[in-house]
Amino acid sequence: MQRLQAYKYELMPGGQQKRDMSRFAGSCRFVYNKALALQKERYESQGKKHSYSALCKLLTQWRASFETPWLCDSPSQALQQSLKDLERAYANFFAKRAEFPRFKRKGVRDSFRYPQSQQIKLDEANGRIFLPKLGWMRYRNSRNIQGQVRNATVSLRAGKWFVSIQTEREVDQPLPEATSAIGIDVGIARFATLSDGSYLAPLNSFKRHETALRKAQQSLSRKEKFSSNWRKAKRKVQRLHARIGNARHDYLHKATTTISQNHAMVCIEDLQVRNMSKSAGRNVRAKSGLNKAILDQGWFEFRRQLQYKLDWNGGMLIAVPPQNTSRTCPACGHVSKDNRRTQAHFACVECGYENNADMVGAINILRAGHARLACEVNPDVGISSRNPPR
Ligand SMILES: [Zn+2]
Repeated sequence: MQRLQAYKYELMPGGQQKRDMSRFAGSCRFVYNKALALQKERYESQGKKHSYSALCKLLTQWRASFETPWLCDSPSQALQQSLKDLERAYANFFAKRAEFPRFKRKGVRDSFRYPQSQQIKLDEANGRIFLPKLGWMRYRNSRNIQGQVRNATVSLRAGKWFVSIQTEREVDQPLPEATSAIGIDVGIARFATLSDGSYLAPLNSFKRHETALRKAQQSLSRKEKFSSNWRKAKRKVQRLHARIGNARHDYLHKATTTISQNHAMVCIEDLQVRNMSKSAGRNVRAKSGLNKAILDQGWFEFRRQLQYKLDWNGGMLIAVPPQNTSRTCPACGHVSKDNRRTQAHFACVECGYENNADMVGAINILRAGHARLACEVNPDVGISSRNPPR
């Protein structure tokens, strides 16, 4: 099987290279936003949007136009990739995997991508990389890559530039070492509850950082805009954002690595973005604004990582429909919303079985996963939702 892997390094650019990278990222953002505005307008007036190839033709015009001559200074492939990104954002939206594409803002995930391996030269021995229109640049080589280079993405985070190199290599189809199966329920009070009784702490458990961030944001809002103190405060906010992001990132990676190594079959609910906020239930704070965004993002990232890590380990991820997983009694099969009078506790009105509600969800998800698997192996086996197989 083909194994894709990404390696991320901090770049050590010169002054001119820094300025160029900022400009390239700015041009890519410009192209993305301009194309998004066009698509919205066309969709509203004609009920359809431009094809990717039509957008590429428009991009050629923009590059030649007198209004935006500076677009020519950026690598054309990188600009085209912005259009690809927009296509993907629309596809994700139509498949209900994501919200409607949003306009990109300056300073938020500034990045651009070189899609072709032939354009990139990697000199690992000397810790340097060649990128079109930027030339050779040194990077902090923390580990050598494995496989063939496919593409490279340059991004700015908290004032530092990074390159993420994606590689591809052929590896043997692994056999799973673990043999067990597990169900996972995601939630607010606990980020994830496993059917074996273990659980992961909530993603917003980085309280200490968040308090610091809130303070830094307040201090920023009191400064005179664009003054040198404002700039200093702004940098601090960015650094804190990055630190919280990194902590979450590490946390999710550790969790998904452990789960995918210990279980051959992992069952989860097939949640979509719009359902997720619903599954947040009565937790109003978590439903609103940033918290909700972080949760949704965390769950999607969790699933994405589980999927590819299970692929690597020869395991299997099974997504089951979320119907009734929180209302079905694992002991007697009785389905009722009365079984769950509170968010946290499950008590069957039929047989009196009691347990943590998330734990019940995880058990039901595991059963639904087993049932689905049985169905795929032998299509004659019917499933009754009232009495899921054990
Ligand atoms: Zn019961």
